[in-house]
Amino acid sequence: MQYYTPYLQWIDQQKESMLELVKSWSNINTHTFNLKGLNVQIEALKKEFSSLGGHLQELTLPPFFHIQDDGTRLSEFLGKALHIVKRPEAPLRFFFSGHMDTVHAQNSPFQRASIKNKDILQGPGACDMKGGLVILLTALRALEQSSFAANVGWEILISPDEEIGSPGSKAILERAARRNHLGFVFEPAFFDGSLVLERAGSINLTVIARGKSAHAGRDYEKGVSALFALTSILVKLESLNSKELTINAGTLLSGHSFNTVPELAIAKINIRSHSTEAIYNAQKMLDTFIEEELEKRCQGGLKPCTIEIHEHSVRMPKTNTKETEQLMSWIEECGTHLHLEFGHKSTNGVSDGNILAMHGLPTLDSLGAIGGEIHTQDEYIKISSLSERAKLVALLLMKIANHDFIPTSPHKRFHNKDT
Ligand SMILES: [Zn+2]
Repeated sequence: MQYYTPYLQWIDQQKESMLELVKSWSNINTHTFNLKGLNVQIEALKKEFSSLGGHLQELTLPPFFHIQDDGTRLSEFLGKALHIVKRPEAPLRFFFSGHMDTVHAQNSPFQRASIKNKDILQGPGACDMKGGLVILLTALRALEQSSFAANVGWEILISPDEEIGSPGSKAILERAARRNHLGFVFEPAFFDGSLVLERAGSINLTVIARGKSAHAGRDYEKGVSALFALTSILVKLESLNSKELTINAGTLLSGHSFNTVPELAIAKINIRSHSTEAIYNAQKMLDTFIEEELEKRCQGGLKPCTIEIHEHSVRMPKTNTKETEQLMSWIEECGTHLHLEFGHKSTNGVSDGNILAMHGLPTLDSLGAIGGEIHTQDEYIKISSLSERAKLVALLLMKIANHDFIPTSPHKRFHNKDT
């Protein structure tokens, strides 16, 4: 432990500056579609992260599309991602994942960070996950000061679109998962300090039914109700809900008057489970229900009726593996050294950790700040968790870099260069 003590003590001296950084970043509105705010944030991040000395660049992401109320697709620009790489030739490479966007809208009254008491800072994105970004920055600064850093390489992606399912950064995350060996995600820890071991998978879909409009009195039989078509599918979908599978129809848009057969209906659906198989089955059943409905409503092809599915985000479950259990046991051992007690649990929430795990990267998730009420106007962090978690992460990284911890079952692409 004595090798590591000076760097951990250095982190203890950073408490004030860590808090100031979280406050100032929390005061920047970075709602996913506030491109101006995201630009300000990326400049602020560059100013700090450039001190790590890696190769830093801004990445332009492909536009994201969403379905408008009239059923057409609308493309929207996303903010830029920050990407930093250092020592990519190292035999062991870490991947660090974070996001700079939040769910707090530009017109929300919740725009500023404020200290509530000695250990609580409330602020938009303070917990999810600007606190986590400060923890990552500080832990890496500590690692880079040490001689152990020379043994490892690393790569950071700080994305601007995690809160909408990472549509633009997904491909970059997938490639990073394939070329690195261990992944670390800085989403918030639970209020009691627990880390996330397993995450459910989650898929967001829009289903659009198109029928034929007609006057409900004069020409009812000439119409095809998109609303009835879609709702009968939704009723069948609901029946699939079980202990291991949740299907939620979040919105339904259709029709405009009592006496018109609606020609368009749009439903936004979330499918969620800890079982990959259950998610695939639900998708298959949705296809079957659609086929049944088309057969019923488009008899002999005489009546026009179409039903289409748009996939917005697909994140399969992050399940427990031997490698993630090993990472968890290492970090718990580091916690014991630092007199920090915490457990681990599973959650129904998803993160970019799901994408990394889907592509085979052993990933430790929720290394960010301890806090709660995320995605609400009461979002807060425990201030003391900033330096505690930075020490925890720094110690883990230094121990791996110093071969105190050696992956027993290295990632299968361990010595591969980039793909
Ligand atoms: Zn988050």
